[in-house]
Amino acid sequence: MENNKKKKKGQRSVEHFNHFRCHVCNKWWGIGDPPSERNIWFCPWCGKEQEFEES
Ligand SMILES: [Zn+2]
Repeated sequence: MENNKKKKKGQRSVEHFNHFRCHVCNKWWGIGDPPSERNIWFCPWCGKEQEFEES
């Protein structure tokens, strides 16, 4: 009995992708796995700092 076929293992992870909508320019942007306690972000489109509700 030969049962020694080892397959290489990949890696799987779950990403919590957060979508934000800028209050200033109304464009969407997103960050994968952001720290949940952080509420202040800069819009990458217009650069304005703004506060978001906790996810
Ligand atoms: Zn913006």
